[in-house]
Amino acid sequence: IKIKIKELPIPVSYASAFEGERIRKDTLYAEFGSKRSKAWEIVRMKEASEIQDHKIEIIGPDIDSMDEPVYLPLAIIVDVAGKNMEEDFEPVLERRLHYFINYIEGVMHIGQRNIVWIRIGKEAFNKGLRLNHIGEVLYAMMHDDFGSVVDKCQVTIITDKEKVEELEKEIALPKYRLRDERIASLTDESVDTFYSCAMCQSFAPAHVCVVTPERLGLCGAVSWLDAKATKELNPTGACQPIAKEGVEDEHKGIWSKVNETVDTLSRGAVDRVSLYSILEDPMTSCGCFECICGIVPEANGVVIVNREYDGITPVGMTFGELASMTGGGVQTPGFMGHGRHFISSKKFLKAEGGIERIVWMPSELKKDIADRLNLTAKELYGIDNFTDMICDETIATDIEGVVSFLTDKGHPALDKDPLM
Ligand code: SF4
Ligand code: ZN
Repeated sequence: IKIKIKELPIPVSYASAFEGERIRKDTLYAEFGSKRSKAWEIVRMKEASEIQDHKIEIIGPDIDSMDEPVYLPLAIIVDVAGKNMEEDFEPVLERRLHYFINYIEGVMHIGQRNIVWIRIGKEAFNKGLRLNHIGEVLYAMMHDDFGSVVDKCQVTIITDKEKVEELEKEIALPKYRLRDERIASLTDESVDTFYSCAMCQSFAPAHVCVVTPERLGLCGAVSWLDAKATKELNPTGACQPIAKEGVEDEHKGIWSKVNETVDTLSRGAVDRVSLYSILEDPMTSCGCFECICGIVPEANGVVIVNREYDGITPVGMTFGELASMTGGGVQTPGFMGHGRHFISSKKFLKAEGGIERIVWMPSELKKDIADRLNLTAKELYGIDNFTDMICDETIATDIEGVVSFLTDKGHPALDKDPLM
């Protein structure tokens, strides 16, 4: 039996408008996490028989059991069961906890997993808000938002210091680790289904993202697991499965089924896509790409620039200028928008030789992805500390300067076949 929750049994208001609300020191009543205590949250899939629907349990002191400001450790465990639930959906549901809690008037939630930081304001406390209300919200919203996969839900909120620490080691950390391993182990070869995402057609009508385990949506927010969960949660929604059939060229990432799907979804505007190429039928770009990659023939490679970088790049354009020629849902051979996470993928520019082609990126981006990119370079080419060979704005932004840096470093792109 499915329940639709309309009114929440809590003493404060509840709306998405409260999302950005900040609780400052002078209005603070209770705090969990950050510097003074440990706080973590998790969503776990359970067997239906292991769960009592709507059971909300508080283990440890509530916020009215001591003088303000209250500093307590916290563990939030949301157990769900459902016929259509899958373990892969856990992180998708878990990421929503941030919003569900933030929507409570007078409550602030920052972070995720075991770096959660929650504050409850004085006013909310005075209106009667207690921990069980957070449990009520999570219970109701899980059913409301995820009704297609959640049949039963129970919430356990723990503030007992020893238990919070003990269960973090026993439940939370192993689970987070398992999920990370699962994502890292997923390859395009290991699945038989990709997903299309057409969410951005509202402003880029011909744009379709093809999301694979090794190539996330270019907005950076839709991984293959997310797309899979989205399809399950909303069967007629923006993400639809594409059977990985009719392989035309595995090296360039061309499947006839992918072409057909993109052709249909773009209403004939785009009929061929090479998932692993920037030169031959690259994927279209809508407008919300995290990064843009563009070729620099002079350096026989590509530059990557992230949205946050506002300076000039070695192709003579800023991110904004590049975006205006790359976006809009058209194919622009030589240029493409993509997610940050895609850069360290073995499928990035695979058709053109892979990540060895990267010759320049802003230092912030380089630092952010260094660990993963270096690991991929080591695995693919046996190169150590590959990012040290990549130029950035602190070294040069003009072609001559970039090429002379690459020559000094013996960057592998210079020895590869001409890009064009
Ligand atoms: Fe979907 Fe993101 Fe691609 Fe837009 S950019 S279509 S939201 S994956
Ligand atoms: Zn988009």
